[in-house]
Amino acid sequence: MLNQTNVNLGKTRSTIRELFEYGKRRKAEIGAENVFDFSIGNPSVPAPPEINGALSEILRETDPVELHGYTSAQGGVGVRKAVADYTNARFSTSLSPDCIYMTCGASGSLTVTLNALVNGGDEVIAFAPYFPEYKIFAEHAGAVFRTADCEDKTFQIDFKKLEEALSPRTKAVIVNSPNNPSGAVYTENTIEKLAGILEKHCAKTGNPVYVIADEPYRELVYDGVKVPFIMNYYARSIVCYSYSKSLSLPGERIGYVAVNNAMPEYKDVYAGICGAGRALGFVCAPALFQKLIERVYDKTSDISVYKRNRDMLYSALTEYGYEAVKPDGAFYMFVKAPGGCSHSFAERAKEYELLVVDGTDFGCAGYVRVSYCVSTQTIKRALPAFKALAESYK
Ligand code: PLP
Repeated sequence: MLNQTNVNLGKTRSTIRELFEYGKRRKAEIGAENVFDFSIGNPSVPAPPEINGALSEILRETDPVELHGYTSAQGGVGVRKAVADYTNARFSTSLSPDCIYMTCGASGSLTVTLNALVNGGDEVIAFAPYFPEYKIFAEHAGAVFRTADCEDKTFQIDFKKLEEALSPRTKAVIVNSPNNPSGAVYTENTIEKLAGILEKHCAKTGNPVYVIADEPYRELVYDGVKVPFIMNYYARSIVCYSYSKSLSLPGERIGYVAVNNAMPEYKDVYAGICGAGRALGFVCAPALFQKLIERVYDKTSDISVYKRNRDMLYSALTEYGYEAVKPDGAFYMFVKAPGGCSHSFAERAKEYELLVVDGTDFGCAGYVRVSYCVSTQTIKRALPAFKALAESYK
């Protein structure tokens, strides 16, 4: 008998991937330019120009054996020091390289972190809407996955819902800001309140609750919006970072976990992360890209295209009568499905060659996600289809 959970996971695609595959077939049938594919979060801007330059330097300057060799399991000390120093300079923390574990992107970061923290039956809470893989990662680590809805009008945390979801078995709360799929950035007030509630809960139950801050979109914010840094508000915090979106390197699989050394047990938490990495075989993140990050840790792709896309899409969609909260970050807009049923709306959208993702998998039926990490030209050309689709509901 095989492990049926994994067999089933392998046989079924996520709604996002299913739609992405449908898009590929449809583009082959009618031409890529006739399909408006807002399905997937693949950055549409190239990596910054410094990336290729730094890669060339590394190829030229590194000893050829060391170039592709193993690094330490947790990552080379050079890149971990660069990440720790940069974080300290930006956020006034005092992390050392031994707080940093290099990983294959945010997925790797989340997986090792959850496996480090969770004992079978512990509960992990995510705020809906949430990135659907959280459920899979948490359950695979042995956790019971629980959700707490956000506020409808703002997509900030609904604290009443959080209090209902907390229990003596709560081990971790996953926070994703800027958020996929809502684009919301949690305000300082939200983060302070969250920290206060969790501290009170820990004091009451005697069990520590960790905040796992999943931050692949940290640098993708618009109009000067600030993303509060969790370690400045809550000691038992662990940051799961990825360069997939900020440097447009999703295929290269590079990111890190940073453990807040303000928590008394941080050395054990870090050891747990190294141990989970070892147990899962998630050691020595791609060596070439570790070397790259050591040189370009402070760079970000040109995100002006995403801002232009957001502004154009938001103003047109709201003019056509759609309801959406204006996203402050990431490259997603979460739009209320006219007619109420997001599944039938996403299906009807296909008739207009618009590919938008049903929000049900994000724990938020009734909404669809529009990924605007596409060319501005695609947005312009898709607007008449969005308009006609809205009119079909009138
Ligand atoms: N977390 C969120 C919220 C995401 O949107 C994604 C990818 O889209 C990930 C994690 C996974 O990121 P990575 O490609 O770095 O593993």
